[in-house]
Amino acid sequence: MKKAYILFTLLLSCVTLGAQDPDSRDKSRYAVNNFDEDDHYTMYQPYETVSVEEPKGRKVKNVILMIGDGMGLEQLSAAWICNGRSLNIIDNFPSTGIQWTYSANRLVTDSAAAGTALATGSKTKNGKIAMSPDDEVLETLSEYAKSKGKKTGTSVVCRICDATPAVFSTHAAHRDSLYNITAQFVDSGLDFLFGGGLKWWENRPDGRDLTAEVESKGYTFVKDIDALEAVESTPVIALTAYKELPPALDRGDVHQASVRKALELLDCKEGFFLMVEGSCIDDYGHANKVGFVMEEIFDFDRTVGTVLEWAAEDGETLVVVTADHATGGMTLLAGSVKDQKVSVNFSNTGHNGVAIPVFAWGPHSEDFVGTYENAELSERIKKLIK
Ligand SMILES: [Zn+2]
Repeated sequence: MKKAYILFTLLLSCVTLGAQDPDSRDKSRYAVNNFDEDDHYTMYQPYETVSVEEPKGRKVKNVILMIGDGMGLEQLSAAWICNGRSLNIIDNFPSTGIQWTYSANRLVTDSAAAGTALATGSKTKNGKIAMSPDDEVLETLSEYAKSKGKKTGTSVVCRICDATPAVFSTHAAHRDSLYNITAQFVDSGLDFLFGGGLKWWENRPDGRDLTAEVESKGYTFVKDIDALEAVESTPVIALTAYKELPPALDRGDVHQASVRKALELLDCKEGFFLMVEGSCIDDYGHANKVGFVMEEIFDFDRTVGTVLEWAAEDGETLVVVTADHATGGMTLLAGSVKDQKVSVNFSNTGHNGVAIPVFAWGPHSEDFVGTYENAELSERIKKLIK
């Protein structure tokens, strides 16, 4: 039914609009911060989502936490409509919850405080990276998993010193100490790290050669996805961009490729903890560009599909998908279910204080049903890392 619907839509698109494919779409219309052109989006080529059964077993060997930065329910609803009423995130997850995002000092959180709550189980003030309001170091899920003998990994499409990857592996009183945060990845103990941020890795004001430092610790260090594909063992660090990776339309399938590699390399008898972030949904929410927001969600959702297919084979992997907060005050105002288009309004260029959905799949997914604090979500995950 769904396939037939998509095929019909494709044919209709070809007839009415000329053969549309992602490469022929006019990207320039997203290239200016112009509200009139950035408040509507039509999906011409929906992608097929995966369909996987939750495993019957109860053992949790691996945990994969996937965070869509700035991906609130309005963003997800718009993306679901545009993709022909289908998203991996929405359609495959049997257990759903709601988490509250406010920080220790603000109703509206930033990514540092929300990420810290998700990573450590403690709310903190906006701007803190895995540190308490009084600047005490908080143990992260990655660090905890490592202490339990598991492998750990992070895969993002932003710079690695951005708040969300930072809160899982580093500690800082201020999120903007980017050279300091970047250097802490040298000693993070991560077995797999993928993202951007060479600007803060190379040519450092302190003169440190972080590449030489990690190589002396046994890491393979690479700067492009092809080189990462060839790597056969951990630990590995791949930084493929000066700052953030290119926007989703230009990025291709590198995030799916990175995560596929992470799963291959981290899979071991002891299990692993992997954090995956759809990092730039937030950036384009800030910029009030719905087209970019949709494309970033589709890219993240395809990565969720990659993870689910692997996890279904594995049978002992818990997958939790959520966000840190919503961005842009985005409201789904109008559109068409049949034509797969949406019109939205952005009411601000910052974050919002709205509660955020949680989607869980795999053994113990039912532990994530209910309404709870973002920090409590972290505690529930921690209980399952053994
Ligand atoms: Zn964020």
